[in-house]
Amino acid sequence: MKILVINSGSSSLKFKLFNMHELSILCSGLLENIGSENSSLRFHYQDKILEKKISIPEHNEALYILFDLIFEEGILVDISEVYGVGHRVVHGGNLFSKAIEINEEVLKSLEDFIPLAPLHNPANIAGIHALSKKAPKLRQVAVFDTAFHHNMPEYASRYALRDSLYNEDKIQRYGFHGTSHSFVFKQVCLHLNKEPSLTNIISLHLGNGASACAIKKGVSVDTSMGMTPLEGLVMGTRCGDIDPSIIFYLHRHKGYSIDEIDTLLNKNSGLLGLCGNNDIRSILSQAKPGNKYQLAIDIFVYRIKKYIGAYMAVLEDVDAIVFTGGIGENSSEIRRKVCEGLGILSIYIDENQNLQEGTKEFSFHSKESSIKLFVIPTNEELEIALQTKEVLEGLSE
Ligand code: AMP
Repeated sequence: MKILVINSGSSSLKFKLFNMHELSILCSGLLENIGSENSSLRFHYQDKILEKKISIPEHNEALYILFDLIFEEGILVDISEVYGVGHRVVHGGNLFSKAIEINEEVLKSLEDFIPLAPLHNPANIAGIHALSKKAPKLRQVAVFDTAFHHNMPEYASRYALRDSLYNEDKIQRYGFHGTSHSFVFKQVCLHLNKEPSLTNIISLHLGNGASACAIKKGVSVDTSMGMTPLEGLVMGTRCGDIDPSIIFYLHRHKGYSIDEIDTLLNKNSGLLGLCGNNDIRSILSQAKPGNKYQLAIDIFVYRIKKYIGAYMAVLEDVDAIVFTGGIGENSSEIRRKVCEGLGILSIYIDENQNLQEGTKEFSFHSKESSIKLFVIPTNEELEIALQTKEVLEGLSE
């Protein structure tokens, strides 16, 4: 039997088909730029890689294309070979503390959370509907980005806003990247040979979206993203933490509409806003003292350091700091800059170990470092497959 994982973004759909028992990958791929003229498909199966430009007007089409391909290639002969499908769902609001099998009621709740994740939840829901139509008997599971943070203490998840905004309007910090933080936490426990219930780490997911998470004894006790994925670290195109009054100022005095401010802060800020580029490789290659690329890196790194300091105070005792995501896994230079000058926290890197490539898991702390440093390539799809399997086998408590 197989487990299919669907990881939909606002304009993309990543998928992996796993053999259920050993969770090995049968085939995988990416459908990108859905809804635009440049949509394309990349499909890996055994030694074969298929890449082509293809019209993908909507997310449901993407799923149909994917299924047709899987059957054409003979990877599946009948839909009944699929034990279940795990969907990444970005926002589970304050309702879902763990993955859940999808039924009408769950689907309705996901629709209710669309205003909290307007770019992502509709894409996630479209995939669920498309599959229900194609294969009504197929069991589907929602695995939430927010669920891992569900047990954050109220003093960390609440904003200092009046009660009714929390109780009635559900305005609170939810946090995201939960499957990634949860995956790297489990891997680090294996490296440390330590029980999850005894382990404290700071997880840094640094990609185009970026977040830090303080994990105490396996529980997320704080994370940098908030009610939406806009809060916190500097990201590829998102500004992260800003003074909310900037929004009033732009609207009242600079003539920006609310929609324009939304686009500005989500799509044209962060690294892109600072230097016109959001690819850290290209930014690093152009950085010189005093130029805008160097400044963008300095701001990006400085914000990460601030969160490390804050989460050291939150956790009191930290076993390890983990780097993951496209930048965390691949950029030794960013890792070095983040850890530079943190001797006061007893964080010291081993320069040579740090230079390793990030396709594998490795540590890069020096002997004198009390805090261990790791690179753990994230594997959200594997984590989704694991959680899907647990839910469908009735193993999730
Ligand atoms: P993600 O959103 O996790 O795919 O991460 C995207 C970010 O990872 C971009 O800023 C890329 O520049 C960065 N990235 C990807 N590959 C590398 C690499 N080999 N070296 C440095 N940065 C990389």
